Amino acid sequence: MFYVLFFILGSVMGSFFHVVATRISNNESIITPSSHCHICNHKLRWYELIPIISYIIQGGKCRKCKEKLPLSYLIIEIVTGILYAVCYHEYGFSADLIISIIFVSILIIVIISDIEYMIILDEVLVFGSVITIIFYLILYGVDGTVYHVLDAALAFGAMYALKLLGDFMFKKESLGGGDIKLMFFFGLVIGLPLSIVTIFVATFIAFPIALFILFSRRDNMIPFGPFLSMAAILILISGIKIDDIINVIVNK
Ligand SMILES: [Zn+2]
Repeated sequence: MFYVLFFILGSVMGSFFHVVATRISNNESIITPSSHCHICNHKLRWYELIPIISYIIQGGKCRKCKEKLPLSYLIIEIVTGILYAVCYHEYGFSADLIISIIFVSILIIVIISDIEYMIILDEVLVFGSVITIIFYLILYGVDGTVYHVLDAALAFGAMYALKLLGDFMFKKESLGGGDIKLMFFFGLVIGLPLSIVTIFVATFIAFPIALFILFSRRDNMIPFGPFLSMAAILILISGIKIDDIINVIVNK
């Protein structure tokens, strides 16, 4: 029963995150104007705003101009719904559930804006970091929070060092500023060691896709942020601990 509730909550939020990512990327207000069709400006009524269901009933088209709506709308709603339900499955009703939902939500906005506009929005990462730190302060007090912030700073520093190394080796910009700032947020929530692991996991996910793009000879700019974010989400919802990874390596 709660799985369904978390799925519905996630799909509603996913639909909202798409609006947030699109509007901030275009320097528009999040609140006004109300949701509308991007082709004909037709104002959406409440029954056209139901996640997933509206899309399916309308056959993926705007009701007025019959223009096709991007499939990404539907995918984002479904994926966010699933991720919320998985967070609930992994953490139950706990403090970690709130933190994991914030983490997943912020990263979904990052993924959308980075894929569609090639930017990782500072305001989104700052908002995510601040709200997470506030929750840590409430839950664990100042002493408990310091460790998280320290991990965040170290993860940021490690990524910055990697960027300097990459810039030196490839003689061009290797990692964007957004990817480095992203590591601060990772360090804050999943800690320093697992943040480093995300870089490897992200490379692993990105590699076949990068090859495909290279061979299909399309434009060769692919943002790394979405892969980092997907890797971090996978690591968070898998509930894996750094000790598990070390054990696997040491026992081999
Ligand atoms: Zn329309």
